[in-house]
Amino acid sequence: MKKFKTESQRVLDLMINSIYTNKEIFLREILSNASDAIDKLYYKSLQGGISGLSRNDFYINIDIDKDARVLKISDNGIGMTEEELDKNLGTIAKSGSLDFKADEKLKEEDINIIGQFGVGFYSAFMVAEKVEVITKAYGEDTAYKWSSKGAEGYEISPCEKDGFGTEIVLYIKNDEGGENYSTYLEEYTIKNLVKKYSDYIRYPIKMDVTEYKEVDGKQQSYFENKTLNSMTPIWKKSKSEVKKEEYDEFYMAEFFDSNAPVKTISMSVEGAVDFKALLYVPKTPPYNYYSKNYEKGLKLYTNGVMIMDKCSDLLPDYFSFVKGVVDSEITLNISREAVQQTRQIKAIAQSIEKKIKSELLDLLKNDRALYEEFFKSFGLQLKFGIYQSFGMNKDLLQDLLLFYSIKQDKLITLKEYVENENGDIYYVSGKSVSGIKALPQTEKLISDGKDVLCLVDDVDEFAIKFISEYDGKKFINATQEVSSEDVELSGDEKTVFDKIKTALDGKVIKVVGAKDMANHPVCLATEGEVSLEMEKVLKSQAGGSEIKAQKVLKINLLHPVLEKLKSLSEQELDDMAKILYALASQIAGLEVENPTFIAEKIISLLCK
Ligand code: ADP
Repeated sequence: MKKFKTESQRVLDLMINSIYTNKEIFLREILSNASDAIDKLYYKSLQGGISGLSRNDFYINIDIDKDARVLKISDNGIGMTEEELDKNLGTIAKSGSLDFKADEKLKEEDINIIGQFGVGFYSAFMVAEKVEVITKAYGEDTAYKWSSKGAEGYEISPCEKDGFGTEIVLYIKNDEGGENYSTYLEEYTIKNLVKKYSDYIRYPIKMDVTEYKEVDGKQQSYFENKTLNSMTPIWKKSKSEVKKEEYDEFYMAEFFDSNAPVKTISMSVEGAVDFKALLYVPKTPPYNYYSKNYEKGLKLYTNGVMIMDKCSDLLPDYFSFVKGVVDSEITLNISREAVQQTRQIKAIAQSIEKKIKSELLDLLKNDRALYEEFFKSFGLQLKFGIYQSFGMNKDLLQDLLLFYSIKQDKLITLKEYVENENGDIYYVSGKSVSGIKALPQTEKLISDGKDVLCLVDDVDEFAIKFISEYDGKKFINATQEVSSEDVELSGDEKTVFDKIKTALDGKVIKVVGAKDMANHPVCLATEGEVSLEMEKVLKSQAGGSEIKAQKVLKINLLHPVLEKLKSLSEQELDDMAKILYALASQIAGLEVENPTFIAEKIISLLCK
């Protein structure tokens, strides 16, 4: 008896104890594995490696033996070798990213994560007390049987089997704990489940179905082998044929999401390349979306066979959240890898990109609340899209962005900003909207009647720099130094400011006086391309860039602090300069380099 790998064991425990209420999905999982296995063999035959197999030879069969309480699902797909059997059914590679601790209970979030991978083959243990997998790989002589009752482990041994393919044998549990497992031995249940979850599987799912005929005036039952599924993929049906719930259900089952999508996009394109696509914009990001582990891509079918699970070339990075299926009659005499390079894929990708954009704009226009939910999940990705392409994608993406407007007290688009404001577009970046509102420069603009966009994500200001202009309007960072050149300084003031600059020893490029600072004694501004926020972000990135903003210390000429400065001794002024700089840094959200030193200076000044 072999033991399951620890993480598989946890998923198994979950299945056996059936935390999932939706037990019926086991059939969908097994049928979709069978269909995948047939796809793999059919694909091989199309590539020319195998002769004598035609599409019509493939099928999936379901057998019910009520008395023995056995449900059997067989396919004539690619099958598994002994090693594959051990590897594929002994481990759940996909759950490897779950850091299971040996004695820890599965938490709800783990269950959600498992759900995002699809519960898979082990879901059989929700309804079966014992599972056997009898399989013979295509081209091999020996068949193998994998057998397990769940918890203790599994066994693999050679066995007899006619022909290649796989047979999953489920020994259905006895009815217990209020559960009606016997229902999975009923023809009508199985028929309904196939219709509900697996109708679109492109190979016939066959079963002996009871039919009645009249013989000598009496009803007599007999079995007829029937195909239960319509075999028409949902994406090949016309929009009017499919209900919203059906589209949603397909998405949730196929892409393992517990939320319905915010947008379903169905495309049927005829032109340079003919294709059909069914695309979905999810509501929430998968748990690993903003990590390196996330793989973008669309399922690619050609001639009715799935040839790639995640064809990444069909989606640009900034729309990597989109899920879906593309079905096209692309020429197939090339390897899976080479498919990525073809021109046809590029043409499809372009048309998909355009469509996603227009559908998102449509959502923005017609269902603002839902769009905002979408933006909360994926707005960051759109902004990265502008930044990473150095602005090349700005025309495509800039109208999809939302920023918080202080004047309107809500998220607005750039278009809405320029429609409501005269002149340039003012923004301030910072950690939070409340922090930005409290900055002297923001207060000033707002009291002058201007609107200010709050940039609160790290990437925001970089994206804005690359957009650089919207509708002929420039973006202006309100903390950037603008008008202080005009302020006349007295000789005294000049001397004091020069001394402060010397005391700060290169930390600021200028010390200036200003009269537009309300009650704030000091603040920091910048000159040049790099803002304070950008300095912070660059520093926090891997490698810790040393790029610094060119800082300007602004001193309020209308504040009593000015008189105080003039009255200080050389040494006191030196200390005070450092204190003021530390305070201004703090207000701007920058780290104070030497807090203990500053605290001591403040105290000693106070105790004079
Ligand atoms: P998934 O199908 O998502 O990879 P499963 O747990 O359902 O995960 O299945 C694990 C693996 O076992 C599959 O990836 C496949 O390699 C193999 N497998 C399952 N069922 C079959 C089958 N009917 N024929 C061939 N291989 C199968």
